[in-house]
Amino acid sequence: RTPDVILMDIMLPDCDGYELTRKLQSIDEYKNIPIIFQTAKSASEDLHKGFELGGVDYLRKPIDRLELQARVKSVIKIKKLENELRQKAITDYMTGIYNRRYFFETAKKNLEYAKRTNKNLSIAMLDIDFFKKINDTYGHDAGDFVLKKFTDIILENIRSYDIFARFGGEEFVIQFLDIEKESSLNILNRIKNSLNETVFHFKEYEISFTFSAGLIDFFEENLRTDIDELIKISDKRLYKAKQTGRNKIIYDDN
Ligand code: GH3
Ligand code: MG
Ligand code: MG
Repeated sequence: RTPDVILMDIMLPDCDGYELTRKLQSIDEYKNIPIIFQTAKSASEDLHKGFELGGVDYLRKPIDRLELQARVKSVIKIKKLENELRQKAITDYMTGIYNRRYFFETAKKNLEYAKRTNKNLSIAMLDIDFFKKINDTYGHDAGDFVLKKFTDIILENIRSYDIFARFGGEEFVIQFLDIEKESSLNILNRIKNSLNETVFHFKEYEISFTFSAGLIDFFEENLRTDIDELIKISDKRLYKAKQTGRNKIIYDDN
């Protein structure tokens, strides 16, 4: 676990605090930890430099114990609020999974990484079948219930580092990492079969539903492609799944 806050002297035995700060900023795991400088220096130039580098507060020596406590407390509080805001900005309110914004942020990075390390990944676009009819027949809250059940069942079947997001309405996207298309297809088929066997109870209703999906993997496109292109192809396949009867997964162009 990384620390919540770092208290750093500007004058350190082996290097100066600014240098250490720069090093910390270059490491993903550490770059968001707030730093409070402590310094005997009082030149405003030094403080200015500290803040520029990402220090969030400073204390002058000799350190007053109560002041130290108060500042650490306030820095941690701000950090916590920041984290909550970030969490909200990347989460779909209703289902609790990631939203479209987070998907694009992360999926792009994952694709870059896959290119560099010559690893495969796949993208699936999923859309619930006849969802409008569920709303029309059982009510909008039954539709919401179905969306949550759908995300639950997918979360049970994918790995924790796969990226699963709500793309909009009743449309979802999964980026399966470090995996061949055959395995992604197996996972999607497992979800499909499980839905085909399940009747959900909502109020006095018994509801079952299906989904359609389009799937593509990175190697299939000869590594030439970007995320937008992969999405476009999986979307085309999803459309074909809808056109040819729904409740199925299309994974090639034959
Ligand atoms: P298809 O099999 O072709 O995908 O048909 P469909 O009915 O699933 O698709 P369509 O695009 O016609 O309808 C999607 C519906 O999803 C329309 C919209 O009102 C509903 N919807 C979108 N977001 C939400 C939501 O958050 N909650 C609920 N309950 N309904 C939603
Ligand atoms: Mg639909
Ligand atoms: Mg749709």
